[in-house]
Amino acid sequence: MDDKRIYADAHIHISLDGENTKKLRAELKEKKYDSIKEILQRYKDKNIFMLRDGGDNLGASLAAREIAITLGITYKSPGWGICKKGGYGSFIGKPVGDISDFKESFKELLKVRPDHLKIVLTGLVDFESYGRVGGIFFTFDELYYMIQSAKDKNLPVMVHANSSAAVKMAVAAGADTVEHGYFIDEEELHMMAERGTVWVPTLSPLGNLIKNGAGRYMNQIPTIKKIYEEQCEKIKRAADIGVKIAVGSDAGSYGVPHVCGFFDEVMHLCDAAGTVLELSHLGNKRIMPTINSEEDRSHS
Ligand SMILES: [Zn+2]
Repeated sequence: MDDKRIYADAHIHISLDGENTKKLRAELKEKKYDSIKEILQRYKDKNIFMLRDGGDNLGASLAAREIAITLGITYKSPGWGICKKGGYGSFIGKPVGDISDFKESFKELLKVRPDHLKIVLTGLVDFESYGRVGGIFFTFDELYYMIQSAKDKNLPVMVHANSSAAVKMAVAAGADTVEHGYFIDEEELHMMAERGTVWVPTLSPLGNLIKNGAGRYMNQIPTIKKIYEEQCEKIKRAADIGVKIAVGSDAGSYGVPHVCGFFDEVMHLCDAAGTVLELSHLGNKRIMPTINSEEDRSHS
């Protein structure tokens, strides 16, 4: 990749580092940021000059944003994600019990100047059982309230949502981007095309396990393959009907290394679409472009 193009990864977690997450998080807890600096330098070396973080509960993405400035990288941080007490996601966000908790957390969040709001609406895709995703943690009214609160402050909203019902809820409530979106259905794809909602389908966490060996998920490979192939079909369909798709690797998650994850994701997306996708057709400029010219970058 010795061209002049500038790449963007629309979904990373700088607080996670695949199999080394434990070690990294121990450093971050002590506010040691050498690893973050090193990771960001490697992004820069590969022309990845825009990163959008999915959040963490250690202030890592906020620290990364400061370090990124010194490297000329545009780094978008949500501060921390909003997740539900007792639900999934306490390491990528701070849990809230109800809307009054959210109001408190959001007030605190605004103090750290988030670039977007991240809401964890569902759990992860369950590799043990096809179609299971572990619940929807907020009601529509709660989700709508949180999204509107962000919009009142001109913040875009990224919603982590798996399952048809959850994606439908997220899109109807006004999410700007749907993250993951496994088990998405035809109806949601049409809604997204109509509303301009961007889909970040994060193929790499599953695609890399299939391609590189599944490690701790060895026994779940048949289910993972089935889920992955279905996601690929939906991406093809989404591209056909005009849904905006962005490259977001979920780098930092298991099996998805930083930097390399971006190129993995591009490869998986091209495979899914059955064609070499023109990268400039992916992504949404307003939220997180995949590729930008130098000129564009100087405006952001
Ligand atoms: Zn993520």
